[in-house]
Amino acid sequence: MNKLAKKRYNKKRNDAYVYWSDDETIRIMFAFNNSCAYCGSKYNIELDHFIPIKRGGKTIPGNIYPVCREHNRGKDGKHAKLPRDWAIWKFGFENGDSLYQDIKRILQIHYEGWYYRNSTEVG
Ligand SMILES: [Zn+2]
Repeated sequence: MNKLAKKRYNKKRNDAYVYWSDDETIRIMFAFNNSCAYCGSKYNIELDHFIPIKRGGKTIPGNIYPVCREHNRGKDGKHAKLPRDWAIWKFGFENGDSLYQDIKRILQIHYEGWYYRNSTEVG
């Protein structure tokens, strides 16, 4: 990445930041039973953006959830997939769609309003 591209990338990351705190980490970890949202593993858990920053997702309650290292999707790469597309790609149509719906439901229950106000996701 050249210097200008890097600067632009960092600016994009900063713009994406809205609000996050240690309390939010505790809340979302509790909501997902301290486990990976996809496989239930309790090892190597990291916080990830449900909707990638590159696709308009923000660092806010309702868009951050725990995933294991294997399922930390690297969605912020060049070809960042939306969460449903990624889940279907990774787990097959039926399981992927079902996982996506379950996760979305948990995020919505715990952070009503945030999710829709702050994402470009449809469906
Ligand atoms: Zn996992």
